[in-house]
Amino acid sequence: MYHFLQSGFQRVLPKRCPTCPDGTVAQAHPVCSTCWAQLWSSVNPYPLNLSFAQGGTALLPYHLPHVTHTMRSIKFGNRPDLAVALGGLMAKAIPVPAVDVLVPLPLRADRYYSRGYNQAERIAQGLKAVWGLPVAVNLIHRPLTIQNFGTKAQASRAESDRFGIYGAYEIPEPELLKGLRIALVDDTLTTGSTLNAAAEVLQKKTRVADVIPLTLAYAVRLRS
Ligand SMILES: [Zn+2]
Repeated sequence: MYHFLQSGFQRVLPKRCPTCPDGTVAQAHPVCSTCWAQLWSSVNPYPLNLSFAQGGTALLPYHLPHVTHTMRSIKFGNRPDLAVALGGLMAKAIPVPAVDVLVPLPLRADRYYSRGYNQAERIAQGLKAVWGLPVAVNLIHRPLTIQNFGTKAQASRAESDRFGIYGAYEIPEPELLKGLRIALVDDTLTTGSTLNAAAEVLQKKTRVADVIPLTLAYAVRLRS
């Protein structure tokens, strides 16, 4: 009986905000209005230029507490909806890039199956909803190989491992990418080595016209 009443109330009462202790969330919103306003006020786009992908943008400084909390929820808190919402926020905060397609960075296969979704893919869906650009999820693969399975998390990876990551990506049909301008989408820029490795594979193994990097957050000081 109690559970019946409780579930009834939960349908009527606003939900508690998942990213702060006291906010309440209106229907169809991922976080409370205070948290959403804080995320908007944290927008601080940085130009993002890697060796193999230039002219991109990183949007939110990861070190701000509410950004950190939000990015952790997207990655580890089973909040794919929040990733889509933040993708939409990013699309409204920066100009539409001159690209033909949004390509989310693929997750390692074992991580995908344990998490149930790829946060970069959900961010790309949020970008798509505002920009109207297509999202392609099968152009670049990160298959589960012995080599991939043995690698550590990106955050703890040394730059010397870069060639190991380069080998981790596969392009099943390189001819499909000929002449395309691609935005590679990821959740957080840490060393940039993973994103750069995927861009390197695209640049060397296909005849893409351009690759630009887009990340929702940046955990590094990109420019002093
Ligand atoms: Zn909140």
